[in-house]
Amino acid sequence: MCGIVGYIGTKDAVKIILTGLKRLEYRGYDSAGVALLNDTSNGHLTDNLTILKRAGKVSELEKLILNQKSAIAEATQGIGHTRWATHGVPNDVNAHPHTDPENHIALVHNGIIENYGVIKQKLLTQGFTFRSETDTEVLTVFIRSMYDRVKDLTEAVRLALSEVEGTFGIAVVSTLEPDKIIAARRGSPLLVGVGDGEYFVASDASAVIQYTRQVIYLDDDEMAILSRDGYATKTIGDETTNPAIQEIHFDLASIEKGGFDHFMLKEIYEQPNTFHDAFRGRLLASEGNVRLGGLTPVLDKLRRANRIIFTACGTSWHSALVGEYIIEQLAGIPVEVEYASEFRYRNPVITPDDVVIAISQSGETADTLAAIKEARMKGATVIGLVNVVGSSIARETDAGIYLHAGPEIGVASTKAFTSQLAAILLIALHLGRTRRLSPREGMDIAQAIERIPEQIQYILDHAESVKKIAEQYTDARNFLYLGRGYNFPVALEGALKLKEISYIHAEGYPAAEMKHGPIALIDENMPVVCIATQDEIYDKIISNIQEVRARNGNVIAIASEGDKRIAEFAEHVIYIPNTLPILTPVLAVIPLQLLAYYVAVQRGCNVDMPRNLAKSVTVE
Ligand code: GLU
Repeated sequence: MCGIVGYIGTKDAVKIILTGLKRLEYRGYDSAGVALLNDTSNGHLTDNLTILKRAGKVSELEKLILNQKSAIAEATQGIGHTRWATHGVPNDVNAHPHTDPENHIALVHNGIIENYGVIKQKLLTQGFTFRSETDTEVLTVFIRSMYDRVKDLTEAVRLALSEVEGTFGIAVVSTLEPDKIIAARRGSPLLVGVGDGEYFVASDASAVIQYTRQVIYLDDDEMAILSRDGYATKTIGDETTNPAIQEIHFDLASIEKGGFDHFMLKEIYEQPNTFHDAFRGRLLASEGNVRLGGLTPVLDKLRRANRIIFTACGTSWHSALVGEYIIEQLAGIPVEVEYASEFRYRNPVITPDDVVIAISQSGETADTLAAIKEARMKGATVIGLVNVVGSSIARETDAGIYLHAGPEIGVASTKAFTSQLAAILLIALHLGRTRRLSPREGMDIAQAIERIPEQIQYILDHAESVKKIAEQYTDARNFLYLGRGYNFPVALEGALKLKEISYIHAEGYPAAEMKHGPIALIDENMPVVCIATQDEIYDKIISNIQEVRARNGNVIAIASEGDKRIAEFAEHVIYIPNTLPILTPVLAVIPLQLLAYYVAVQRGCNVDMPRNLAKSVTVE
């Protein structure tokens, strides 16, 4: 959540920062702003800090900038921000950058300063004034008060950060000490881009990849001081650090729409490839087993685990729930699934024989990160399933599996979900083979996994039929999604997708639970999406569908190819190719992603930037 970009060099800072903010906009789009400075080493005035900020999307800021262009044409240094509001409504005043009352220090921030109230009171008694409702402005003014004491910007930032509680990724520029950007983080992601005579700071690599592939992922409690001549890093505790420079591996095309109307649609269509990339080189089809190099340090522990506990949020939580069903089925290991936000605040019973698997697309989800810390503190081995290389969760875990899905920009997660399922399937297959699965059974599963990419492609090739169904339900006010067994979590995920991007209220339910409550809602205005693939509980779900029909609900069935019977009971049928029951979630979710997408587009919703949401949830 929230995007930060900073630049110091010799080029047009406005252009670089605006381009970066557009790339980071999926992280928040309540407001956007920039603070710009000129290069003072060549004789420019030092006291012209230009702040431009606006409520709304980056395009609003861009309009504002166009009107001001002459004033900032020579800026070669600056910081920018796209906000996901936590403290204070999304208006111009609360937009970042924030400044001290004299406009000498400008700061952008991702995260929450939890003790801002106490600090603000203290600063008010010292005579400082405030303009906004944000926690961020308090931090800015706090740094100013420290500067007045120590007359050194880096030290002022360091001292202020030593006293704040909460999470932050920040970038600071100041007329008091121009020609530098100070960046620091705790709990929010931040990296430094290393160029030739130019340096960047950004929330993620997509903002800098156009200019450099060399990055330093800052650690928690680490600061970076950037100038045109180089950079230095140290901890907030004032110890010098020596972080490694790493290479970014994805390319620019992977963060562009590439001819699709929306990132979400592009990412839905990438799934044949991304699913394949998640198991490529890992699946040993001829042995019916897998090779998971990233798990080597913990493999023995995992095989002997008494219990596996998944912890995750949102869509990742749904993939974890599928994981519970699959691992218990294939390996017979007890599995629990916990919302990370709940797990960390109760007192979970964890023993050193437990293995915790944390799932997060971004690898930055604040609640999941905190849950990991809690689990490690209690002695559990922690594995991460994350997509973003170098992310905090990837670094905080004992071992992990990268999803290799490429950057996911659409706020509603799609390809990360199916890649998470791929990673979970690999773990389940491996554990199954070490416990109860025969080589033959392992091979059958491996071969079925290998067929999935072409089967996803088949569903995508028939997307038109899903679009037609979507067109009939654009005015629906509610949707119910039903599934059983492995497909119960898929029902939850389908409902979440629709809610997120179309703002239609939707509930996912285990089909048999419907009669304990939701059935009261069913009438001729209620579309009910039923996942009814042919497996051992097919007849049961057909009965549930009959119950819906008996109350005039409109059934949209997701069914197995060749199932003729289902058409008798359902208003609409979307067929998916046949596979093993444990693999049906990967296929069943594809039409549900498409359904949500087309309903949202028909309703004129901003699919890639749904209201109130943002990606990479770095606040608790
Ligand atoms: N807490 C800050 C605010 O509400 C920063 C939010 C963000 O991460 O965008 O402005």
